[in-house]
Amino acid sequence: MRQKGLPVTQSSQNEKRPRIALTRRQLLGSALAAAAISYLPATQGRAQTNERNVDVLLVGGGIMSATLGVLLHQLEPGWTIEMIERLDAVAEESSNGWNNAGTGHSALCELNYTPEDKDGNVQITSAININEQFQITRQFLSHQVEMGVLQNPRSFINSTPHMSLVWGDENIEYLRKRFEALKASPLFAGMEFTTDRAKMTEWMPVMMEGRDPAQKLAATRSPLGTDVNFGEITRQYVKFLQSQQEFVLRTGHEVRAIFRNEDGSWRVTSQNLAEGTEEVVNAKFVFLGGGGGALPLLQLSGIAEGDDYAGFPVGGSFLVSEKPEIVSRHLAKVYGKASVGSPPMSVPHLDTRMLDGKQVLLFGPFATFSTKFLKNGSLWDLPASVTLDNIWPMLNVGWTEFDLVKYLAGQLMMSQEDRMNALREYLPEAKDEDWRLWQAGQRVQIIKRDAEKGGVLKLGTEIVSSADGSITALLGASPGASTAAPIMLNLLEKVFADQLATPAWQERVRQIVPSYGTALNDDPAAVARVWAVTEARLDLAIASPVLDGVAANLPDAPTETGEVVRVPDMAL
Ligand SMILES: Cc1cc2nc3c(=O)[nH]c(=O)nc-3n(C[C@H](O)[C@H](O)[C@H](O)COP(=O)(O)OP(=O)(O)OC[C@H]3O[C@@H](n4cnc5c(N)ncnc54)[C@H](O)[C@@H]3O)c2cc1C
Repeated sequence: MRQKGLPVTQSSQNEKRPRIALTRRQLLGSALAAAAISYLPATQGRAQTNERNVDVLLVGGGIMSATLGVLLHQLEPGWTIEMIERLDAVAEESSNGWNNAGTGHSALCELNYTPEDKDGNVQITSAININEQFQITRQFLSHQVEMGVLQNPRSFINSTPHMSLVWGDENIEYLRKRFEALKASPLFAGMEFTTDRAKMTEWMPVMMEGRDPAQKLAATRSPLGTDVNFGEITRQYVKFLQSQQEFVLRTGHEVRAIFRNEDGSWRVTSQNLAEGTEEVVNAKFVFLGGGGGALPLLQLSGIAEGDDYAGFPVGGSFLVSEKPEIVSRHLAKVYGKASVGSPPMSVPHLDTRMLDGKQVLLFGPFATFSTKFLKNGSLWDLPASVTLDNIWPMLNVGWTEFDLVKYLAGQLMMSQEDRMNALREYLPEAKDEDWRLWQAGQRVQIIKRDAEKGGVLKLGTEIVSSADGSITALLGASPGASTAAPIMLNLLEKVFADQLATPAWQERVRQIVPSYGTALNDDPAAVARVWAVTEARLDLAIASPVLDGVAANLPDAPTETGEVVRVPDMAL
């Protein structure tokens, strides 16, 4: 927060209640927002309300809240922290390993981060940016292993080569140009490009079996890719926090009301869903890490900054195979390019995953639509989030992003046979009986008010906070869980700027993320150091490429001035 450091508060029950300052927005808007939050009916009558004071309240038990909890604990071990989760356990929504694709997004294989401009140049700025963010994540995770917060790295991160596979002359040419543009960057060292089918058979044998020999193909492979189980990371973070006396976890509690106290702290009321009782927490800082449910929570807080936002939920489903004969013969995440006529949000990928201690294969995602903001949410989530402030931006986006609407309609009409046929483009010999459909998580894309266009669809994440930084929500979900650590460092810069400027925090942040504040892409020697340390601590099975001779800058990189050919993109 912008005010000086938070004094430590002792948690206590039934303490004197601070006075509440109601905003006009809350008086007008809280009924609808409360409806959005109230997924489950209160089961029993209200009993006595418990009331506690804490320094930090984390709403939601996903990777975002858990990452912030660990980070704040390591920066200020004395701060009291409480986490409130509506489900019976943490990591049961989008962060659960089965509810996302588990890609440690580094732009090694996801072609949507390297669009072509109108002159045919492949632009790599956003790929470098995504990759830089994942280097922060690698360092954050490896520090947590060193500190004993995370145990057994193979339970949550595994080396899994990241490949791109395309067919057709135009796509082959694009992939070649992309490879040429990226290979000068140290962050993308070790990437290989091939049009040789024998090489591809070596890289992805099952994907080449039964394939039309006349089909023209190209592929790239990076040894730096990872598969990450974000659910396991979340559980381990929370388990560590629970071992600290300053931390309390409350599961089965749903936040239903958020008001500002006259002293500037926040009074957050949650309902114990099993017993129907109410609990109140007064917190100096509140993080609304509700995943898809963060927008209704932001609306409940009544802060003016929330008025600019609406949300559009898009879910994902995957075809899953656990058949050992196939699973054991594919070790890669292979991302494709959208078929002609469809936007790249439909980019399918065939992924090796390590889930529940065993290797499985996932193909997808296929977009699904529901008005729920969470997998375990309510059908009222979307309608209840509509306000007089955000209805116009929503209508504008519905009109300007018509490709997205058409794409979703097409996906919804897909039969299981259509999905299997999509899979057969990647795995020609896939058999119906080896694959089942799995509904993964919901993502709520941000719609933001825009002075010029009325409303725009934003594809990344946004930290939205009150003017004094005392309450903050994380909206959006791309690239997602793999950027939890850099997102939380950004949050510190935004709302804990004074504390972050102190020598103590500066020193601790650099212990956690040694490269903090620097651009690794400009410094191959630093990249090599980061890779060496993190590869060892994270027990990554595939060695990082040697960086000798890789130039610091990008002498042959195409100019980044051309206008990018814009396409709707959900980057699932
Ligand atoms: C299909 C799909 C594929 C994806 N693939 C990837 C990928 O490959 N790589 C990647 O990095 N990211 C991926 N993501 C995104 C990633 O899963 C999310 O960005 C990330 O998990 C979000 O974490 P979170 O903590 O914000 O939300 P969540 O994990 O959803 O946690 C939010 C928690 O808040 C709780 N909550 C909500 N409202 C309340 C309330 N009122 N009171 C109390 N608790 C509440 C919820 O129950 C939930 O447990 C994918 C997402 C989807 C849906």
